[in-house]
Amino acid sequence: MHHMTLAEIARGLADKKFSSVELTQTLLARIAQLDPQINSFISLTQDLALGQAKAADERRANGESGALLGAPIAHKDLFCTQGIRTSCGSKMLDNFKAPYDATVVAKLAAAGAVTLGKTNMDEFAMGSANESSWYGAVKNPWNLEHVPGGSSGGSAAAVAARLLPAATATDTGGSIRQPAAFTNLTGLKPTYGRVSRWGMIAYASSLDQGGPLARTAEDCAILLQGMAGFDPNDSTSIDEPVPDYSASLSGSLQGLRIGVPKEYFSAGLDPRIAELIHNSIKALEKLGAVIKEISLPNMQHAIPAYYVIAPAEASSNLSRFDGVRFGYRCENPENLEDLYKRSRGEGFGSEVQRRIMVGAYALSAGYYDAYYLKAQKIRRLVKNDFMTAFNEVDIILGPTTPNPAWKLGAKSSDPVAAYLEDVYTITANLAGLPGLSMPAGFVDGLPVGVQLLAPYFQEGRLLNVAHQYQLNTDWHTRTPTGF
Ligand code: GLN
Repeated sequence: MHHMTLAEIARGLADKKFSSVELTQTLLARIAQLDPQINSFISLTQDLALGQAKAADERRANGESGALLGAPIAHKDLFCTQGIRTSCGSKMLDNFKAPYDATVVAKLAAAGAVTLGKTNMDEFAMGSANESSWYGAVKNPWNLEHVPGGSSGGSAAAVAARLLPAATATDTGGSIRQPAAFTNLTGLKPTYGRVSRWGMIAYASSLDQGGPLARTAEDCAILLQGMAGFDPNDSTSIDEPVPDYSASLSGSLQGLRIGVPKEYFSAGLDPRIAELIHNSIKALEKLGAVIKEISLPNMQHAIPAYYVIAPAEASSNLSRFDGVRFGYRCENPENLEDLYKRSRGEGFGSEVQRRIMVGAYALSAGYYDAYYLKAQKIRRLVKNDFMTAFNEVDIILGPTTPNPAWKLGAKSSDPVAAYLEDVYTITANLAGLPGLSMPAGFVDGLPVGVQLLAPYFQEGRLLNVAHQYQLNTDWHTRTPTGF
């Protein structure tokens, strides 16, 4: 049962081959048996899951249908879940039970999805390896000595290990697409504003966006359908109708113009990954796509700009965790200042503290113009590059990451080395564009992802290309040994 995709589960439930309760019990048992190897969950919500599964079965018995009705999923542990620990991977929020559901959580619950638990993540979504979680590192099911990517590493590892078919995730600089690439999944970061951020604990508010992680484009379409849409509670949510994503899967790729930026293939890209990307280009050409070389000249400035803007916003967002209103509070504070200092010093891990310091520095009087304002100007140049490119092409294709998943600990002592791995994903967040990563092959037994980027609100186009690709390749069907 655990090998089924969301689409297969929906068909099986509709045909009464099994019930949601049976499926939920099977997957909960599988998680209990296998998760200790990969550490992909922070909390399990068995009672909630079985109650939701029972309710979904009843709704189906009463004639209701729907692709998510009775489908088991999990939420990255930064989506607030009412009455359930929402830790953000941090000691700071280990004791925090959210007083309300995030919009994404509420929408998926209303659609009948069953929440199996909350998945592990880098602390406050800062990272690319899922090693900064207070709950311990997540392991990559493809090789337990390697990282699964981050910050949505728990969601990715759980889906890759077939503990469940799909999970929610978030992407501030690549945290859906990069773990998708590292674990052989399909992951979609929607256009900024497409999915509500209400109840999603903020890292960098102008970059954060929730989206689906699953094994196929077809499943990403199903999960995104349940997540997307206008939310009056989120002032950056966009009031645009949500298209039928599953209906967009089937279009032909004849004449599709694919832009391949020449900057993507510079030194720094593992040549074995470059070869796999060229293979996926050939596969899409066979389906009728036309390839065109393009240029994104400001791409080289994106990492430094992102690593000013994201920490700046984080330093502001994380100021609310002060030991007073919620979260961790230090023992026996001597006075208010001591309370603030020790609660934050003891509650936040080192990567979070580093980013708060960098961000506060970049925003301070005298440095604001030199760093923050300059980074914002680069952000506009990055966006302009994309706008120019999309005058000539329909989508942009390239690698998701320059290297496959590295060994646990390999970059822990050198944060900048990890930041550099975000080179292909960060630009889409700076510009607010949608991006998707899908399986493209293996290097040394580790998965490799190919990334597709599209103009604003063209998630359907990305899913269409990925689905057609997946009808003609079988990388996405490969399963890690032992799972
Ligand atoms: N690796 C990037 C960072 O550490 C992106 C993280 C994310 O998308 N949440 O900031």
